[in-house]
Amino acid sequence: MSRSFYKDISDPDHFVITLELVPGSEYRGLALDAVTQIAKDAMADGRVSAVTITDNPGGNPSLSPDVIGKEIVDHGMDVIVHFTCRDSNRGGIESRALQLARMGMRNILALTGDYSGKGFGGQGTPVFDIDSCSLICFFKMLEHRTRLEKGESERFFPGCAVSPFKQAEAETFAQYFKLCKKVGAGAGFAITQVGYDARKFEELIRIQKDFGTTIPTLGSVFVLKPAPARIMNRGKIPGAVVTGKLLDLVLREWEDKQQGRKSAIERAARLAAVLKGLGYRGIHVGGVHKSFSTLAEILDRLEKIEHQWQEFIPEFDFPQENGFYVYKKDSKTGLSVNSERNLPTSRAHGWEKVHFHFMRKVHDIFFNFESSLEPLFQKFSSMIDNTQLGRLLMHLTEDPVKKILLSCKKCGDCGIQHLAFLCPESQCPKHIRNGACGGSSRGMCEVYPDRPCVYVRAYNRLAVIGKTKDMSREFVPPRMWELNRSSAWLNFHLKRDHQTVSCVIARYCAPQGSCPFMSDK
Ligand code: SF4
Repeated sequence: MSRSFYKDISDPDHFVITLELVPGSEYRGLALDAVTQIAKDAMADGRVSAVTITDNPGGNPSLSPDVIGKEIVDHGMDVIVHFTCRDSNRGGIESRALQLARMGMRNILALTGDYSGKGFGGQGTPVFDIDSCSLICFFKMLEHRTRLEKGESERFFPGCAVSPFKQAEAETFAQYFKLCKKVGAGAGFAITQVGYDARKFEELIRIQKDFGTTIPTLGSVFVLKPAPARIMNRGKIPGAVVTGKLLDLVLREWEDKQQGRKSAIERAARLAAVLKGLGYRGIHVGGVHKSFSTLAEILDRLEKIEHQWQEFIPEFDFPQENGFYVYKKDSKTGLSVNSERNLPTSRAHGWEKVHFHFMRKVHDIFFNFESSLEPLFQKFSSMIDNTQLGRLLMHLTEDPVKKILLSCKKCGDCGIQHLAFLCPESQCPKHIRNGACGGSSRGMCEVYPDRPCVYVRAYNRLAVIGKTKDMSREFVPPRMWELNRSSAWLNFHLKRDHQTVSCVIARYCAPQGSCPFMSDK
């Protein structure tokens, strides 16, 4: 192996370079030959710590990263495999993890994943059995298990994605709170989404320090050409942000193809210099599809200009319209004024607020292990659960009430208490229980852009009682599918649901550090 990603990122003096490769939808051909050639050239060059390989990006079927990853590892180049939760349930995920370990690939970029794209005969079933936090936690527990069983562990090195490029206050904090959970679950590194806003890049580094959850973070540097710039500008790559102003600039640059290419490489090198100056531990380069020489040119240029990084900051000033920033702007540097914060103002109103207060009150009375009424509820639940008629009567009561109040999907393992009394099964198309995915845009859902992301709603609800920080605290174990269509009320009181049975996972993967810093509003 030429370089080891784990060793490089563990060395605070080493500026890490990773390169994203996209295997494509064929199992052979020129595009795939180019991918393997780029990996070989990257290894020969010696500056790249690992190549990362995408996992069916956009939810569209493509060659498995495991297969192409194995070929690249066998050539001696280290690999980070993108691992999404879209297409496999937890059984499939565990099997794939063991397979990767066996093949010598243990650096994992753990992702919830884009929503399902189209395949044979139409759109595929979105699985999303667990989310990215649970996936990271799973790798941590798998290591622990193998250590206990065999006296040694399959050392996995999971990392996560984070997007500072969010427009609304609620989705910005939803990202940062989730990062706290991911770090608690065991993420060893983070990679940002694609964006061109230096102030946002700096915000992420600063907030990690303020939260006390700093992990080595790589900033994304995408070599921006007109086609991907247009796609990103239309919001078609979840989480990636190219504003209209930047798109216009790129299109102008590419009126002359040669000039366009030169500008794209220069922009990438300058962004890399800014990231290095801001304290990023490395860069994650994307948009290199034909030849390694593009990355080599960027890295050569970076070596020459990195000391000038502060001069380049104004070139990465592409804020989103009415975009929220956690920290106040320093007009001199274009970055933040120390850690002086903009006051959060977003909160729920009207029906959202009424529903939240009502549900909170009811939940506190009926579903609270600390309550003096709980022994009574347990006795009553036990009686009902013992007869078929009792269970039927419970269904006839519980189902309509929860359908009306929550659009309940009868999962039997209720998670509303972790989501400001919104249902993760009916309100989030990816059924995420641990925080927003990276795909929301301007506060709206990646999958249904006409409705707000459920975590934006949860944040706004919690803001009403000054408890938004609760979103960063608890690790929520995955849904217990064995309870599907049974009574969640009985399961709670009879201690059959995730709050009792799998709560050991929550303890194992609890967020650490002092996050978050927010004071109650
Ligand atoms: S509701 Fe939010 S977390 Fe769920 S899929 Fe939509 S954007 Fe992602």
